[in-house]
Amino acid sequence: MRFVDEDLVLEQPTYDGRPVPMLEQRFTPEEKLELLDYHPLFTGRCPQCEMPFDMKNPPSAHWECAHCGWVDNTL
Ligand SMILES: [Zn+2]
Repeated sequence: MRFVDEDLVLEQPTYDGRPVPMLEQRFTPEEKLELLDYHPLFTGRCPQCEMPFDMKNPPSAHWECAHCGWVDNTL
């Protein structure tokens, strides 16, 4: 991750050498920073109950917490 002209640029994230889905470009820099702070794609944990996700097999599109029922509807 790096900042270019004060805009947050997300580089292709990888986990265990495999690419993980990129964020769509419809987010503002502020929204991206919010996502970086709470989304399990970046934190590895459910933002609601903090149960860790299985980051070796992250969902490609639809994040859902089996523990508390949190569902991602932002990506
Ligand atoms: Zn949860």
